[in-house]
Amino acid sequence: AAGSGKPRLNVLMAGPRGFCAGVDRAIKIVEEAIRRYGAPVYVRHEIVHNRFVVESLERQGAVFVEELDEVPDDAPVVFSAHGVPKSVPAEATRRKLFYLDATCPLVSKVHREAEQHFGRGRHILLIGHAGHPEVVGTMGQLPAGTVTLVEDEAHARTVPVPEGVPLAFITQTTLSVDDTAGIVAALRERFPDIHAPAKEDICYATTNRQAAVKAIAPRAELMVVVGAPNSSNSLRLVEVAERAGCPKAVMVQRGRDLDLALATGLSTIGITAGASAPEVLVEEVLARLRERFEVAIEEVIVAEERITFKLPAGLQA
Ligand code: SF4
Repeated sequence: AAGSGKPRLNVLMAGPRGFCAGVDRAIKIVEEAIRRYGAPVYVRHEIVHNRFVVESLERQGAVFVEELDEVPDDAPVVFSAHGVPKSVPAEATRRKLFYLDATCPLVSKVHREAEQHFGRGRHILLIGHAGHPEVVGTMGQLPAGTVTLVEDEAHARTVPVPEGVPLAFITQTTLSVDDTAGIVAALRERFPDIHAPAKEDICYATTNRQAAVKAIAPRAELMVVVGAPNSSNSLRLVEVAERAGCPKAVMVQRGRDLDLALATGLSTIGITAGASAPEVLVEEVLARLRERFEVAIEEVIVAEERITFKLPAGLQA
């Protein structure tokens, strides 16, 4: 470091960060489908919410579409990690399309919980963000009107529910752990008998990435979150950093997006990455910082993750 002439910058690396097991599996499903069946392989919706990942799969022969009607009859199609409403595989079956479902097993688990509650005659409150594809997919497991979306604590206090029907709540997998605790508390206060998930629906990856950010936020003067603006779990990391005492948190998609002026004059910053952001983009951010600073890295690891998910039966070796 001495003699480089650049100011020193301490960089706290949140661990875990970046890819989760569901994202890793979804990308492998697309790659393996291209390898086995040849290009093009169609993918309904961004397989995971990251432009870099989408563009590299496009170069390998993936074609991204928003709806099934854009998929020709004779090409394989993959459903994204976020999950799909039941109407989507039903339509694919009707059209005799060959499809592969890259829905994360932890999202599928929430789908099955929803079906079980429904089977027991319960009305379901889904805690989540309106319009997010996971929410669209989860609501679409059941007939319209049987699931009510709850977006925040104020909404939990006022949301109308059917009279005389038992209630249950489920959640999106990528929510803020702290916000969700507040929403659940508000629901329990209003509906003491509401059924809860056996184990919470917020996934291990979301929980661990938020915990890692909380661990470094009080020491960091700036938090850089590598992720995409349509990535729910990445957006939550920005919020968590600021609430945990970091004066400023910014999201960048690539190294070149980082405004180095933000770090000028600081001694310590933090870096994390959303569950759909590959580590190579974290490396880009570090390379960008090294243009102006003598970077000293400290890894702060709050949890070890060993979870992996198998590929669907049809794609296993
Ligand atoms: Fe699955 Fe969680 Fe990753 Fe979403 S963030 S793909 S639920 S492991």
